[in-house]
Amino acid sequence: MSLDDFDRYPLLFGPSPIHRLDRLTKHLGGAQIWAKREDCNSGLAYGGNKTRKLEYIVPDALASGADTLVSIGGYQSNHTRQVAAVAAKLGLKARLVQEKWVDWPDVTNDRVGNIMLSRIMGADVRLDASGFDIGIRDSWEQAMKDVRDAGGTPYGIPAGASEHPLGGLGFANWAREVEEQEAELGVFFDTIVVCTVTGSTHAGMIAGFAGQDRPRRIIGIDASATLEKTRAQVERIARHTAELIGLGRDLRDDEITVLDGWAGDLYGIPVESTIDAIRLSGELEGMIIDPVYEGKSMAGLIDLVTQGEIGSDSTVLYAHLGGQPALNAYAGLFS
Ligand SMILES: *Cc1c(COP(=O)(O)O)cnc(C)c1O
Repeated sequence: MSLDDFDRYPLLFGPSPIHRLDRLTKHLGGAQIWAKREDCNSGLAYGGNKTRKLEYIVPDALASGADTLVSIGGYQSNHTRQVAAVAAKLGLKARLVQEKWVDWPDVTNDRVGNIMLSRIMGADVRLDASGFDIGIRDSWEQAMKDVRDAGGTPYGIPAGASEHPLGGLGFANWAREVEEQEAELGVFFDTIVVCTVTGSTHAGMIAGFAGQDRPRRIIGIDASATLEKTRAQVERIARHTAELIGLGRDLRDDEITVLDGWAGDLYGIPVESTIDAIRLSGELEGMIIDPVYEGKSMAGLIDLVTQGEIGSDSTVLYAHLGGQPALNAYAGLFS
């Protein structure tokens, strides 16, 4: 088996853009920093990393004969917004369980940003009081049953599409895309920095890059604040994806790196370093990042480059995974 044996339903514009972050590089005074932009990878409701994962899940959903995509996330889930967009595009219904993963005081938290976009796209959005968890949830199983009881045919997509058996393939393909773009650009990224929470983005990259000739570091920055759960999930999905795409060897433990230190105490709650990273990216590069995910991975990148943990001879690729719509639910941070 190889990645090419899996059907892919195109949802992206094409390869996502890669560009230099010159002013950030100069400001930090160390490694060369570039970004690859999943935040503008698709015309479907602003795209993002989940849209890329869904390219490999949609063929299975269509083959199943389902009429409703069922998924789950927090109130400001980027994932459920991308599921809603894909459902609209395919002419399917979307049933979304939106849990209270984040206790954030902004009064518009369940009304603006991602959740508003899902409503605009016609998704059946249901709020649920349960807290944060990256695993399989009862409320999601219940939503599947509700759809069935109403005579529909559900297709379940777990949180972040990570626990789905095909969830890692999208970013295994990303690894291949990076290699092709490197050949065009005449550059080699020895270090990748990526935010990780439900795990299949980071895991897919690990599996995909493991099959390439030149080794590189893929540094996952935890934003879940439940480090051990996320690390275990990354490991499991990376090994499973490696097997699916026929890597032909076991992944070594040193190929799986999830670092903590930038998540703060809770998922979805920004800390000082998150807000500093958001302002720095905005002021130096006009690159917008969010307080839940990318602000935390950028804070990690900033520290690792500044402290020389990532050496000044390195060329770093920052995976920008999207997520800006959630900023609207955090207006209080910047007013
Ligand atoms: C979901 C998400 C992540 C984390 O990706 P996982 O595959 O869940 O680890 C990071 N950034 C953004 C913007 C996301 O929406």
